[in-house]
Amino acid sequence: MPVYRDEAVVLRTHKLGEADRIVTLLSRRHGKIRAVAKGVRRTGSKFGARLEPFMVADLQLYEGRSLDVIQQAETLGAYGAEIAGDYASYTAANAMVETADRLTEAEGSLQQYLLLVGALRSLSRREHTPGLTLDSYLLRSLSIAGWAPSFGTCSRCGKPGPHDRIVPQLGGVVCDDCAPPGTAHVDAATLGLLGALLSGDWSAAEASDDSTRSRASGIVAAYLQWHLERGLRSLNHVSREVPPAL
Ligand SMILES: [Zn+2]
Repeated sequence: MPVYRDEAVVLRTHKLGEADRIVTLLSRRHGKIRAVAKGVRRTGSKFGARLEPFMVADLQLYEGRSLDVIQQAETLGAYGAEIAGDYASYTAANAMVETADRLTEAEGSLQQYLLLVGALRSLSRREHTPGLTLDSYLLRSLSIAGWAPSFGTCSRCGKPGPHDRIVPQLGGVVCDDCAPPGTAHVDAATLGLLGALLSGDWSAAEASDDSTRSRASGIVAAYLQWHLERGLRSLNHVSREVPPAL
């Protein structure tokens, strides 16, 4: 049977039979992979610990008839334990892998793989507040998927900004002419934070206050849910320092 190697991040796992698991992975070169890991639920299986959610591993697999089978797994990024040890990081990571799973339903991409691995690594190292890391990840993964939001020019007619109204359904900010009646205004600080999270300007993002972050999170969530058509379950459990204001 054909054997292949790839690097992959574990998105989720399911029990299979007495001792096995089905592992859903986003890989560097083969897109999304669903594979069987045999014997991993037996006590003391080192193999199993390498195939927990948020772990990045170098894998050897062989192609099965319906599902591929994982033969070897060597850890490349042991982010699982560090992330699971902090509730806000854990809920953020869950929302990330669920988003990655949904956005790569048709096909995976190297960009989505690298973005997710980078975000999980950043979470495990506590580089930024988990909520900021999550919102930046969500905006950028949506952009890679072809839904880049606009926080500058009008997303409908292209009129140069700044504009201070956002309509997630239209793809970002809109000018006064394009704004549907009743569209709420958004303050400049929130728009600035959204732009910083999208471009990865961390010094600007870190300088934001809690209420600005909360408003930005509400907009990111609305934008994401619009594009994914149905809500992400795990986003409802994300632990934030401040309750969403929207
Ligand atoms: Zn316009």
